[in-house]
Amino acid sequence: MTTPTRRGAAFGALLAFLSLFLGCSSSRASAETSRTDFVLGTLCTVRIVEGPKGAKAEKLLDGAFARLRAIEERLSANKEGTELARINEAAGRAALPASDELRLVLGKALEYARLSGGAFDPSIGPLVKLWGIGSDAARLPARSEIEAARRLIDWRAVELDEAAKTVRLARPGMRLDLGAIAKGYAADELKRLLAAGGVKAAIVDLGGNVYALGAKRGGGNWRIGVQVPDPQAGRGEYLGIVEGLDMTVVTSGVYERFLEAGGKRYHHILDPATGYPVENGLVSVTIATGSSIDADALSTTLFTMGRERGMALAAKLPGLSVVMVDAAGKVYLSPGASKVFTLTSAAYTLAD
Ligand code: ADP
Ligand code: MG
Repeated sequence: MTTPTRRGAAFGALLAFLSLFLGCSSSRASAETSRTDFVLGTLCTVRIVEGPKGAKAEKLLDGAFARLRAIEERLSANKEGTELARINEAAGRAALPASDELRLVLGKALEYARLSGGAFDPSIGPLVKLWGIGSDAARLPARSEIEAARRLIDWRAVELDEAAKTVRLARPGMRLDLGAIAKGYAADELKRLLAAGGVKAAIVDLGGNVYALGAKRGGGNWRIGVQVPDPQAGRGEYLGIVEGLDMTVVTSGVYERFLEAGGKRYHHILDPATGYPVENGLVSVTIATGSSIDADALSTTLFTMGRERGMALAAKLPGLSVVMVDAAGKVYLSPGASKVFTLTSAAYTLAD
């Protein structure tokens, strides 16, 4: 959700989608109803595999995409007039009424800010806007600009008042950005909407933030490819496969959105402590679990925390499989992850 005009990322997401689902023959695919559209700053695809067909299925997809657009109207920091944009504009001034939806997502984001000691921080907005990575305005800022933006970041100064149902940013210039968590929330919402509409099996793919509902046709496990975390690698090249039922798979990596300047590559996960992209040797973090809002928040959170601190936090959270890849091509698995993840790329090795 960094910007509505990320054509490169969108094209990549489309290719990723096209190559995502192994073992899906075209004759099977023809019995399905699927739709792809650009929303939440990325290409989103919803594929109904088992459940209502024909006009009923199309109607469900209408509802699903209307829901995505409604979420964007509330949670996007990059569009004018959204609920979040209005809260950002009122920074340092009034508390504004906030919807249940916005408070829920912001509340989660603040929880992960606390858990990560501020490495993950939804008030990172001034820095995200300054770098503009993934947008047409991307540029390498001056150090003084970075310092000024950095001083505005403070999740403790985000006043979320559940009793009054309001949000206020304590200081002028503060700015929320929910780009690291909103797609996960949206995937959970679509899963609920589809299940309530009688869908038994579906794939929701919001720019690579995947939720696989139910089981594959015939009852088998879904097999979801995790992309190779290398900007040079072709799309459809897999690091490995995650297998399971009713699960979400979300990856945060340095290879999708970046800025090249002065021979250096700057990616889009930023470190509130330095103001620069996180540099800790990791190139991607993949989470497989049941809740997509948590998976999305955690893929970014664990990335910002680094391998050791990130894995230590993951060990305390139940039902989580974590796959981390470092720049040397080593793949690290959380204890539970070896049950669901199979490394398939010969270019990477499992750490022991
Ligand atoms: P993507 O949106 O590409 O799927 P992520 O879920 O990892 O990837 O989210 C990255 C986005 O999160 C950035 O584009 C930015 O909007 C926001 N962000 C960047 N750094 C942080 C951070 N340290 N804490 C919270 N959000 C961040
Ligand atoms: Mg995320």
